[in-house]
Amino acid sequence: MKKVHNFSAGPCILAPTVFEKSAKAILNYNDTGLSLIEMSHRSPEFVAIMEEARSLVKEVLDVPAGYTVLFLQGGASLGFLMTAYNMMGDHKKAGYITTGAWAKKASKEANFVGEAVIVASSEDKNNSYIPKGYNIPSDIDYLHYTSNNTIFGTQFKSIPETSVPLVCDMSSDIFSKKIDISKFDLVYAGAQKNLGPAGATLYIIKDSILGKSSVAIPTMLDFKTHADKDSMFNTPPVFSIYASMLTLQWIKEIGGLEEIEKRNNAKAELLYNEIDRNPLFEGTAAKEDRSYMNVTFVLKDDSKKEKFDELWNKANISGIKGHRSVGGYRASIYNAMPIESVQVLVDVMKAI
Ligand SMILES: *Cc1c(COP(=O)(O)O)cnc(C)c1O
Repeated sequence: MKKVHNFSAGPCILAPTVFEKSAKAILNYNDTGLSLIEMSHRSPEFVAIMEEARSLVKEVLDVPAGYTVLFLQGGASLGFLMTAYNMMGDHKKAGYITTGAWAKKASKEANFVGEAVIVASSEDKNNSYIPKGYNIPSDIDYLHYTSNNTIFGTQFKSIPETSVPLVCDMSSDIFSKKIDISKFDLVYAGAQKNLGPAGATLYIIKDSILGKSSVAIPTMLDFKTHADKDSMFNTPPVFSIYASMLTLQWIKEIGGLEEIEKRNNAKAELLYNEIDRNPLFEGTAAKEDRSYMNVTFVLKDDSKKEKFDELWNKANISGIKGHRSVGGYRASIYNAMPIESVQVLVDVMKAI
């Protein structure tokens, strides 16, 4: 099989051992003679997988006591709405920091349940930076932000300081570095950026919010429904959860988030150094807000585009075309991306 350097923003690269083990499990799970995807989700085998996946999330992220971990469906996009249903309190108002397309979509969903107040936004400069120095109103039920802006290549370098309950969509940088979960009432993330195949959506929920919403919540959208049934109210996305468990085992084996963060920093610095050094390229995000997961950049000399595209194609690089709203290029360098692949891209950038 030819070696492709996959810089796709999602679904994306996973660790080789995750692909190998999950491929085996599809054919014959642990010598049971059954495929993982034909087994009952109530079987002892799958219940053990669900339990290990949930407990590894807590272990790897160092989640404090008093939080429930769930693997649900609907993607982060349903998380936008579930957030609003489950977190809306007496103010019927929620604050949103809109730093990109996903953050804006999240705020739109809140309007189905209450009112979304835009607390800060970076739309004025095509979301190329993270807003700072804004005031957070106190009459809101929660503040929502998106820690890493997958499309625009910006990332919060610190957690917003606030006394209102804090909610974060961490879809594209969860498990990429250490994070203090105790600051949050709710964290959610689609699996397919840094955890596993599409299908599962991870929720980390402070127990004290369960059952506290001021609005009636449809059964499937209520976190309590799923928390009461250990994330097994209905059939869970078994394959995505199994592969996510394997990813978490892999993170633990290689040294946890400390090691992951070190590797991610090295990869991002390698690529940003070339973008800054090479007069042909320019990063699209403000330097201090640059994402260490999604590196967005443009080629300044249009006449070199054909040559550059030919060179990276020849080097078996895939998935670096920028999102249409930013243009140029986007190299997603999630956890499982080896630095060797980043070096291949940097070598191509040096060669034109
Ligand atoms: C990809 C992405 C989403 C959308 O996730 P789905 O699981 O496809 O609904 C939401 N937020 C962020 C930050 C993302 O990167």
